[in-house]
Amino acid sequence: MLDETNSGNVLVEVRDLKMHFPIHAGVFKKRVGEVKAVDGISFDIFEGETLGLVGESGCGKSTAGRAILRLYDITEGSIKIDGVEIGPTPQPKLREMRPTMQMVFQDPQASLNPRMSVAAIIGEPLDEHTDFSKKEKREKVLGLMDAVGLNRDFANRYPHEFSGGQRQRIGIARALALNPKFIVCDEPIAALDVSIQAQVVNLLEDLQEEFGLTYLFISHDLSMVRHIADRVAVMYLGRVVELATREELFRAPKHPYTQALLSAVPEPDPSLEEKVERILLEGDVPSPSKPPKGCNFCTRCPQVMDICKEIDPTGKEIAAGHQVACHLYADT
Ligand code: SF4
Repeated sequence: MLDETNSGNVLVEVRDLKMHFPIHAGVFKKRVGEVKAVDGISFDIFEGETLGLVGESGCGKSTAGRAILRLYDITEGSIKIDGVEIGPTPQPKLREMRPTMQMVFQDPQASLNPRMSVAAIIGEPLDEHTDFSKKEKREKVLGLMDAVGLNRDFANRYPHEFSGGQRQRIGIARALALNPKFIVCDEPIAALDVSIQAQVVNLLEDLQEEFGLTYLFISHDLSMVRHIADRVAVMYLGRVVELATREELFRAPKHPYTQALLSAVPEPDPSLEEKVERILLEGDVPSPSKPPKGCNFCTRCPQVMDICKEIDPTGKEIAAGHQVACHLYADT
């Protein structure tokens, strides 16, 4: 984790990133529209920090994570990782950059090949990107198993022989194999039993400290994000609506959507629980293929004004490091 001042260097710079998926219809598969899953997001991630990316399911946060790692060919925008622009880089060329940036997926069951042993799974990136001898590779794999708390005696076992938490440790070990700088953790604990979620989060924190990792931690679980993130970006319908340090965001959320989201988080202190005012949002999240005119949140916002239905608010820095995209803060 970074200190409060965020004085580190920028490792990841995302600017106006868009990921639109075409909608085709009819016999001739004509393009009839597009799903604007990510619609112009911008932020920096500092070296060694964890940026939490939160929002309800379908808000575009997972697509954003994949797009930043260029698992997709993006629609528009710029992504710089360690100073290198990868937005327009063709896929074959990206292969050379893969070691720097890795992903830990939500469902360890689905992301591990059931026919490969644990050693083969963890060592697979080494086959592709290094010319390690068999012995060197074995040593590296066993070292990674130690690092993520897996018993090295189990190196020749298969994924189905492990629990969900252990499988996620296998996925983390594989992500670490090439000494990455930046890891996108896409809901890494959502598929796990509550009792082991904290263990995996603690492991990610320990590994961050040990290897100097930088995380984009994608989650719908605000309590977990509050625990792990240095700063938090809140997404709604393909946009980042608020970004602030964890302390600032949880202490004084400014965007009406963030306020509603946080009001739904259970308060651990029972004496404060009664004082929490829940904000219930009405209506459904609009389709990302037909976002409303003006502010994306205007169809559900408890504080909507006339201007909101006409003009799209742009992100504004209302205090050092605290950005909000909302007309309520136009004059601050
Ligand atoms: Fe609500 Fe208007 Fe702010 Fe959008 S711009 S969040 S509709 S007050």
